[in-house]
Amino acid sequence: TERLKAGLSKTRDKLGKSLAGLFGGGKIDEDLYDELETVLLTADMGVDATLHLLKDVRERVSLRGLKDAAELKGALKDSLNDLIGPLEQPLDIAGRKPYVIMMAGVNGAGKTTSIGKLAKYFQSQGKSVLLAAGDTFRAAAREQLIAWGERNNVTVIAQQSGDSAAVCFDAIKAAQARGIDIVLADTAGRLPTQLHLMEEIKKVKRVIQKALPEAPHEVMLVLDANIGQNAINQVKVFDEALGLTGLILTKLDGTAKGGVIAAIAKQNPVPLRFVGVGESIDDLRPFNARDYVDALFD
Ligand code: GDP
Repeated sequence: TERLKAGLSKTRDKLGKSLAGLFGGGKIDEDLYDELETVLLTADMGVDATLHLLKDVRERVSLRGLKDAAELKGALKDSLNDLIGPLEQPLDIAGRKPYVIMMAGVNGAGKTTSIGKLAKYFQSQGKSVLLAAGDTFRAAAREQLIAWGERNNVTVIAQQSGDSAAVCFDAIKAAQARGIDIVLADTAGRLPTQLHLMEEIKKVKRVIQKALPEAPHEVMLVLDANIGQNAINQVKVFDEALGLTGLILTKLDGTAKGGVIAAIAKQNPVPLRFVGVGESIDDLRPFNARDYVDALFD
């Protein structure tokens, strides 16, 4: 929680200050609810989650007979925890080998960085990892991944030319032959509006299924926490195209307002497997709802 708190310091500064203002004193009245609404909207929670939380907090306040603004904090924390709690579903790779994780996201979201962090995370649990350099649009991305793999003792399957789907197919076959535990399949960054690229990534998934019918076990979208309500649209479009099973929310250490998790929980719930809280290889945390709420408020 301490590392998470440190990572979230900027987010906490912003949200924490406005919340502290609210909980400062006085009694719970309509003005206070109005202010709370503004704070939640400003924190990127979106209209749906904000209205849901307001209603839920009001219910708690009346059930508990709360009068004092200071007591609102506990009610709000519980409401938020109940809302985002269902997103906490740690990745479970047991019993499947290789466990294939297909990565998707827009350029700059932090996909490459997150793949490195994930590889390190699994290696530290004694698992062997193989990377598929499926970002075949950018030669530099491939070279970057190969160099990274060499430094970190991770096998990288890449092709000079060829398409993303073929690289992923080869990687799964190689992982099976070598008894590797986890395949991290990179794909090129793409925007939800680039329809031909969205078709292309659907094909990557189909070809992965050809290599191993039960795969991909995880289709993971990497999402930048700083893009506010656009995150919802990205989740929606990638989910429709691929059937997302997990998310990584990156850059929560930056100026992100943090509320986007509530918006996702309300509008398009997909398990939030990990949060990124920095640029270094260790800055990846399995998502824990209670820790997150505590880090935001306390
Ligand atoms: P890609 O285009 O999706 O592969 O994005 P990259 O992995 O290259 O990341 C883009 C930038 O975001 C790089 O400068 C990363 O160091 C940075 N980045 C990625 N994840 C995080 C994070 O959790 N926190 C911070 N502060 N920066 C991050």
